[in-house]
Amino acid sequence: MNIPYNRTKIVATMGPACSKKETLLAMIEAGVNVCRLNFSHGKPEDHKKFVDLIAEINEQYKTNVSILADLQGPKIRIGMVKDGGIHLINGTRVNITTKECIGDENGIYITYEAFPQDVQAEEIILLDDGKLQLRVIETNKIDTVLCEVVHGGILTSRKGVNLPNTKVSIPSLTEEDLENLQYALEWDIDWIGLSFVRNADDITELKQVIARSGKAAKVIAKIEKPEAIDNIDAIIAATDGVMVARGDLGVEMPLEEVPLLQKMIARKCRAASKPVIVATQMLESMITTPRPTRAEVNDVANSVLDGADAVMLSGETSVGEFPLIVIETMAKIVRNVEELGYPFNSPKGSISDSSSETYLSDAVCESAVYLANHTNAVGVVSMTTSGYTAYQISSYRPAARTFIFTSNKHLLNSLSLVWGVRTFYYDNVESTDQTIGDVNAILKAEGLVGEGDVVINTAAIPIVKHGKTNMLKVTVIE
Ligand code: PGA
Ligand code: MN
Repeated sequence: MNIPYNRTKIVATMGPACSKKETLLAMIEAGVNVCRLNFSHGKPEDHKKFVDLIAEINEQYKTNVSILADLQGPKIRIGMVKDGGIHLINGTRVNITTKECIGDENGIYITYEAFPQDVQAEEIILLDDGKLQLRVIETNKIDTVLCEVVHGGILTSRKGVNLPNTKVSIPSLTEEDLENLQYALEWDIDWIGLSFVRNADDITELKQVIARSGKAAKVIAKIEKPEAIDNIDAIIAATDGVMVARGDLGVEMPLEEVPLLQKMIARKCRAASKPVIVATQMLESMITTPRPTRAEVNDVANSVLDGADAVMLSGETSVGEFPLIVIETMAKIVRNVEELGYPFNSPKGSISDSSSETYLSDAVCESAVYLANHTNAVGVVSMTTSGYTAYQISSYRPAARTFIFTSNKHLLNSLSLVWGVRTFYYDNVESTDQTIGDVNAILKAEGLVGEGDVVINTAAIPIVKHGKTNMLKVTVIE
């Protein structure tokens, strides 16, 4: 399959709109690198169908499409409401209750047992993505919270609730998340996303569950709460990757702060060599129309320029009318920025710490990118068993392509999320000369490099030790 070489990766959310094999295959051919299973919707058996389908495509077409299982986290919802919804009128009062009921103008059920204890007067309650707003008047601290309607409207069943000011005591991994996580681990999913992360402990806790299962899944921290912004450095240090989850972030924080927060998070992630996904409403209008708005095109392009490793689609591919056209459009926008305006080789924004145990190998990776730039190399070609070298090379955003060879089968797909990285399987450890010759020959056979091209090979010698990257070679392909 001849897949376009986008540096910035594309994450597509799975759903009924792309459940046919030919649709998903066409989307992968057009540029999808990672498929997202959104555990907030759908049943485990629906997700499993996608897991099997993606495995089948990877096997049949030699692709390395990765999977991200996105756990709902402590998402709060209202319960069922009466037919036709509730009309909430500005200035009127309404009770939010933890006693299960069919909601009406007097009382609305909330799926958050400790809400009356956690909430305080004057705090804000946002409903349905912030479209409706309530203000807390008082709580009986038992089961009922009296609120005033600030911005009213029609409220229908099961809508999401955001509590930007409340210290929510729900655990970061709910019972439901733990059940879904077991499925994801059983299915050997590459990346696990956790919603509404508040601090680094949320990530550590999830990582402990993964470690106990003996699986290699990596973690994406979804940044969508003010508390996560306050703790962003510790969260980035603890996680394997980050998502700028602009949907909820833009409800929980003032909307106008989101653009600069996106840039801040992207910059910090790149400095820490951790992949960052920019998500939500990127091509939203394409759920129902085949052409995006100009503002959306600008948003995708600017996210690429902000340094995103990946840009994500949600409803556009899961339930939209034009899942394939969406991917083609996104790939074209990405490619155009990368061809005409991407700041390749731009400074990473962090200085290697000479006391770090990876200091020397980090310096070799940085030098590989520097050397590639100065020799107009077409590729940086690296070996890795842990994946570390791939994240490092990518973080310098080389203009040369990044070709990663590994004997670690888990990495073949999981690294598909990382900016610029393409992976290949290789497991011969006879000698460094042999390996370098082999991997360059594989690239040539694949048509990815040609005679006379310069590539920069990195390696760890002696090769049998599987140590850290410590060597560079400038190769002219014969
Ligand atoms: P969600 O996360 O789609 O699971 O809500 C993304 C976001 O909030 O932007
Ligand atoms: Mn969200």
